[in-house]
Amino acid sequence: MTIDELKEKAAEIRETVLDIVYRAKAGHIGGDLSAADIMTALFFSVLRADPKHPEDPERDRFVLSKGHAAEVYYACLAKRGYFPESELAEYGRPGSRLIGHPTNKVPGIEINTGALGHGLSIATGMALGMRMQGRRGRVFVLCGDGEQAEGSNWEALMAASSYGLDNLTAILDRNHLQISGNTEDVMKLEPLADKYRAFGWNTVEIDGNDMEAVVRALTMEHEGSPLMIIAHTVKGKGISEMENIASWHHGVPDEDLYLRARAELASQRRKDG
Ligand SMILES: [Mg+2]
Repeated sequence: MTIDELKEKAAEIRETVLDIVYRAKAGHIGGDLSAADIMTALFFSVLRADPKHPEDPERDRFVLSKGHAAEVYYACLAKRGYFPESELAEYGRPGSRLIGHPTNKVPGIEINTGALGHGLSIATGMALGMRMQGRRGRVFVLCGDGEQAEGSNWEALMAASSYGLDNLTAILDRNHLQISGNTEDVMKLEPLADKYRAFGWNTVEIDGNDMEAVVRALTMEHEGSPLMIIAHTVKGKGISEMENIASWHHGVPDEDLYLRARAELASQRRKDG
């Protein structure tokens, strides 16, 4: 897909996320929207994976460490063809496999996530295992900034650089907010780029809501060491009444806001497309 096509797809994904959350009356919409451009770039451009053969041993792997952003994950998987888009209407209903945090019962999902702070460690193990098996697939993991307070991340950072895992790329959704407020008030993270570099990671900082920058970073060469992309994003991106407001970490719009948000996203689609 071209950059313009990816932008159009990201706008479509945002509309789908809004519909999922509004219909189910549940969902982590703020972090879905901050990550929508990154997720779209991964699933519609970067990941070498075939929805018709989701178990192909040579596929690229993806881990959603910030597992609560399940709605944007399901939207991408369905629109990419891993399961029928009509199933998105089942999200959150009793008996549905599309539950509030991702599980590997859903085609295309490698690993259950949602307990925070584990994704980077899992992805590090995957990347090491794939290298030992001589697989050419790469591993991508999307982390939240709030979960960087978990010590397991820093063990994984140390291990991945120690093993020189250049088949591993981590993306940090740096929206500066977590459920309880600003990350720097909850647990001071900065200077993050200096910390990742000190741990031996090839580290870049980008605007994580700029599709061109996202694709460029996700495809850059990083021979000999893992790559950390600090993607500066806006929580709630695309729906102005939700942007940069911590309480939209989890929230459901009422009908009036839903209609305003739908119109705003539709106008972005026309503008971007
Ligand atoms: Mg965050």
